[in-house]
Amino acid sequence: MDKIINTNKLFPDLKPEVLDSCIHCGLCLPACPTYLSDLNENHSPRGRIHLIKAWFENRLEYSDKLADSLDTCLMCLGCETACPSGVHYEEIINNGKIALTNYKSPFLRIFSRLVFKNILPNYFILKLNYYFLWIWQFIKGKEFIDLMLKFFQPVNLPGIVKPIAKLAQLQMFLPPIANNLVFQFKPSSINGKKSLNFFHGCVMELFFHDINQSTLNILTNNDFDYLIPQQTCCGALALHAGEIDIAKDLAMRNIAYFGLTVNPIVVSGSGCAAMLKHYDQLFDESDGEIFNQAKEFSNRVVDITQIIAQIDQCKFKLKQKIRIGYHAACHLAHAQKIHQEPIDFFEKLQAQNPDFIEFVAIQDAEFCCGSAGIYNLLHTDSSLAILERKMQFIRDANLDLVVTSNPGCLLQLQAGLTLFNVDVKVVHICELLDTLINQSNN
Ligand code: SF4
Ligand code: SF4
Repeated sequence: MDKIINTNKLFPDLKPEVLDSCIHCGLCLPACPTYLSDLNENHSPRGRIHLIKAWFENRLEYSDKLADSLDTCLMCLGCETACPSGVHYEEIINNGKIALTNYKSPFLRIFSRLVFKNILPNYFILKLNYYFLWIWQFIKGKEFIDLMLKFFQPVNLPGIVKPIAKLAQLQMFLPPIANNLVFQFKPSSINGKKSLNFFHGCVMELFFHDINQSTLNILTNNDFDYLIPQQTCCGALALHAGEIDIAKDLAMRNIAYFGLTVNPIVVSGSGCAAMLKHYDQLFDESDGEIFNQAKEFSNRVVDITQIIAQIDQCKFKLKQKIRIGYHAACHLAHAQKIHQEPIDFFEKLQAQNPDFIEFVAIQDAEFCCGSAGIYNLLHTDSSLAILERKMQFIRDANLDLVVTSNPGCLLQLQAGLTLFNVDVKVVHICELLDTLINQSNN
């Protein structure tokens, strides 16, 4: 037990009672996308908890099978919502993933640490990558790689081709970029109105600047003033990959930046909001003052859906009636436990606009879409199988619009709509509300 946990002293220790809280009832299994895909107990929450416990208690050696079990977990936390015993699965899998980094290939480790530490938190480098991706789309890189692979199929390709071929898949999950190259915020001044700080995220700002702008428009429309303090990547992707020192470093930087202000911190991307709300879990008493600062910081974080749910006046004039469905991002529903607020908002929209808006429930709306950070790139086949199920339910609901709240879901759902030929538009909840306000004003 000591061996694994002590190699990761950077993270609060996993207490035996957390591991023992699972009573193996299996009620979480139907909520687990990876278990439903292949009915393999090693790919279920119960199986993963069992394996991590055995590993941490030195009853099980590290093996590729163990790594596969943990690696394939989407960290969607659907199992936490389903579990009647209140098992803290997130804490368990985080510890498992941190321990796993000790066994990763040095090349993969160096590369992923470079991305988490030097690329995501650095807007300049991030933007350069963004332009590269834009060129990649423009020159139709996917088609070129596909052709190359087809041409060389009979030949035994060298290992280096594999990561290059992954780039072909990357394009599948990207939005069209061309109209989104300007980064421009106009912070309001604090003048006695309800005041907030805005956290714009890194990937969210890169790919979905317009959604961040919509978020700010909604805040302004509803009498909020906002500031945009200096900030960096929230660290969610680093934590999901088990790179805890990088996640903690990014957390400490954000805590320091936002520590200069006292107002609530509003976030437009559910993945970032979930991570920021959990900064307190990265530290414990042994870390000293930062533990209290992290708790204070986490208590200030508000997901934008919590603000939208409080907007009373939602009456709009539209040209035609639209059918709206809601896909609940795992990081909103399961990580932040925000289930009802978005639904209340959509029901309010329908009640106040009966001639224009119909809210339609999507089956298994809280079930993961298969995005899960970079899971769709690392485990593309499994991700697509999960996505196909989601697309079936979206198709069955016969919608005009599917609404969600997380950048990863937006990219994944957009890819799914194209791949599986579903004629529905996907939008962020802020984009929807901002568009409704604008259309009514025109
Ligand atoms: S995680 Fe919860 S629901 Fe799943 S087997 Fe354990 S106790 Fe049961
Ligand atoms: S986090 Fe998601 S994928 Fe992982 S065990 Fe839980 S339900 Fe399954």
